[in-house]
Amino acid sequence: MSQNAIELRGLKKTYAATKKTEAKTALSGIDLDIPRGSIFGLLGPNGAGKSTLINILAGLVKKSSGSVNIWGFDQDENPRQSRAAIGVMPQELNLDPFFTPGASLDMQAGLYGVPKNQRKTDEILRLIGLEDKANSYARSLSGGMRRRLLLGKALVHSPQILVLDEPTAGVDIALRQMLWDNVRQLNADGMTVILTTHYLEEAQKMCDQIAIIHEGSLRALDTTENLLSKLDTKTLVVQADLADLITLPKGVIQTTRADGGMAFTYSRSNISPGEILDALRLANVKILDIQTEQPDLQDVFLEITK
Ligand code: ADP
Ligand code: MG
Repeated sequence: MSQNAIELRGLKKTYAATKKTEAKTALSGIDLDIPRGSIFGLLGPNGAGKSTLINILAGLVKKSSGSVNIWGFDQDENPRQSRAAIGVMPQELNLDPFFTPGASLDMQAGLYGVPKNQRKTDEILRLIGLEDKANSYARSLSGGMRRRLLLGKALVHSPQILVLDEPTAGVDIALRQMLWDNVRQLNADGMTVILTTHYLEEAQKMCDQIAIIHEGSLRALDTTENLLSKLDTKTLVVQADLADLITLPKGVIQTTRADGGMAFTYSRSNISPGEILDALRLANVKILDIQTEQPDLQDVFLEITK
C-alpha cells in the first residue's frame, strides 16, 4: 500500500461559467504526494487554488479531471473510504446557529456513520476546550469558540488525515496558540495534517514540508528546511548615524526599516557582507549596531510568485 496520505495526479478544476461570471480554471494540473505522518503546508496567495484543492479532497467540489487518492483509496472508485480517511476544517464558518456544540458533534458523527457507542463527543469537547459550552447554542459562541468547534467537527470520525483551511485567519494569538497546540498533539498521536495559511512564519514553524501553488499550478515542493536553504538572499541590517551617499556594490538593494535601520539585501553567491561594510566605511557611516538576517518563507514566497 502507498505510504502517502494523499496522491494527486493531473488534478484540474475549472469552475463553469455562470450568467455573472466567466469560466475560471482554479487548478491546472497538480501532481502532488503528501507523505503520511507529516504536517504539510499548502501555501499560495489569495486565489491560488488552495481552497479548491482542499474542497476537492473533502468531496465538496467536483474535480474536472485527474485523480485523487486518499489513504490508498481512489476517490472515484472508493468514495466512501476516501471520504472517511479525511476530516476538514473549512475556511468558512458554516455552523448552524441553533445547534449546541454537543449536538453539532453528535450530528456530524451520525453523518459519518459513527455508531453511538463509539462517539468521542466528550473527548473532543475537552480537546477543543468547549466542555462547559457543550449545551450552549452555537450563535452564543464567540468567533474563536466557533472555530474550535469546526476543528472538533473535523475529528468526529477519527480520520487519518486532518485538513485545515486557513485555520488562524483573523484569529487572536491565544486561540492561534491553542489551535496549533491541538494540531501538534494530534500529529504526535499519528495524524497527518495538511494546512493552508497566510502566516508564513506559522508555516515555517509548523510544517515539515511545504508546497507553494500559484495561479493553479504547483511552483515549489520541498522540505521547509530545503526551501529556505535554497534561497540565496541575505540581509544585513545596520543602525547608523546619517552618512554621505553610499555607493553600494552592484546588486545590493538598500531599504529603510521602520526603526530607521538600513537594510541591505544581497545575493550570497555574488557578494560578501565585507564588501557592503567596505562601502559603508567609504561613505563615512558610523555603525552603531549590526545584524544579519536569514531568509524566511516570505522571501521564498515572493521569489516564486513574483
Ligand atoms: P485560495 O483558497 O487559494 O484563495 P480558491 O481555491 O478559493 O483560492 O480560488 C481559486 C480561484 O477559483 C479564484 O480565482 C476564485 O475566484 C475561483 N473560485 C473559487 N471558488 C469558485 C466558485 N465556486 N465558482 C467560481 N470560481 C471560483
Ligand atoms: Mg482559500
